[in-house]
Amino acid sequence: MAHVELADRIKHLPPYLFAAIDRMKQDAVAKGIDLIDLSIGDPDIPTPDHIVEAMKQAVEKAAHHRYPSYEGMLSYREAVSAWYKQRFNVSLEAKTEVLSLIGSKEGIGHIPLAFINPGDVVLVPSPGYPVYPVGTMFAGGEPYMMPLKEENAFLPDFSSIPSDILKRAKLMFLNYPNNPTAANAPVDFFRQAIEFAGKHGIIVCHDAAYSEMYYDNKKPMSFLELEGAKEIGIEFHSLSKTYNMTGWRIGFAVGNKDVIAGLGKIKSNLDSGVFQAIQEASIAALKTDDATLSSIRNIYQERRDAMYEGLKALGLSLNKPGATFYLWAKVPSAFDSSGFVAYLLEKCGVLCTPGVGFGAPGEGYIRFALTQPVSRIKEAVERIKKVL
Ligand SMILES: *Cc1c(COP(=O)(O)O)cnc(C)c1O
Repeated sequence: MAHVELADRIKHLPPYLFAAIDRMKQDAVAKGIDLIDLSIGDPDIPTPDHIVEAMKQAVEKAAHHRYPSYEGMLSYREAVSAWYKQRFNVSLEAKTEVLSLIGSKEGIGHIPLAFINPGDVVLVPSPGYPVYPVGTMFAGGEPYMMPLKEENAFLPDFSSIPSDILKRAKLMFLNYPNNPTAANAPVDFFRQAIEFAGKHGIIVCHDAAYSEMYYDNKKPMSFLELEGAKEIGIEFHSLSKTYNMTGWRIGFAVGNKDVIAGLGKIKSNLDSGVFQAIQEASIAALKTDDATLSSIRNIYQERRDAMYEGLKALGLSLNKPGATFYLWAKVPSAFDSSGFVAYLLEKCGVLCTPGVGFGAPGEGYIRFALTQPVSRIKEAVERIKKVL
């Protein structure tokens, strides 16, 4: 073939943010720089032993070597339902209101295919997880960016969305605790979102990947706790961050049964479910005792405190996160976000993520991920101190 032509839907996509960062990282490592990588939200802590043990036993069972069911084993969906009841006091029908996912990224990327026709609008928080707008565009939809501004506590302002956009809007992504801003949403915001979505006939897809990554014992809520939520939306969850299982690729969607069925229909035509041994291990994960989870949270809390206090002492402007393993800091006024990331990498071998990579309203910020031991975090702060 003389020339391989990409389809329009991928031709003009910006390079996936983390692919570009990976290249910067490889260049730095090739130059022999002792890199402190705080750029990617991938836990450095291993999956807890009892989950690995459950996997070892499950992988030996021949019954798990065959195609799994599309929607997930009933026992896995029941474990999700029991977890929701215990954690949020939300009741879910395992058969109709729970769906397994090959990581929540997979479900988030695919859901627009189930509900979006060409010309339909999807409301997307910005800065935000890049999969929301890209999944929308793959389905022929139009993302409408809802800016998350610091003066609005990083919550979208529904009243600023033009009425012609609202007429075409069919789906909205929300994400709290939020990546990348580390903000959480108060209950009143979720109430407002439910009312707004109900009034305009918009499906709400709440991405709750960080609901278990919280500090100071302040547990984030599920939006499904609120009256009316299950009539209009679903929640995406991931085992990746909660149980240090990013490599295992498993998550779930829960909530409105018609929305769950629509996503399930797309999936049954595209994939063949999650390896059942992984589902067995995930049942063990969902039953993890509080002591194990607290010890993981304590590790992050120590890191958060070291990074927050350190950056604050350097004069950087940032909020102390109540959840997520991110810090969202303003860049000094002499820089833009990409310039500051490149400066820190070059001058002190500390890698973080430029806010603009999460969308234009992220310009002026950088994101640090707390995915290094506290000793390295303290060293990163010391190094930054010398070049500021
Ligand atoms: C990490 C992350 C996810 C997805 O994780 P999976 O590993 O695909 O389950 C989803 N949303 C946000 C905002 C994330 O940061």
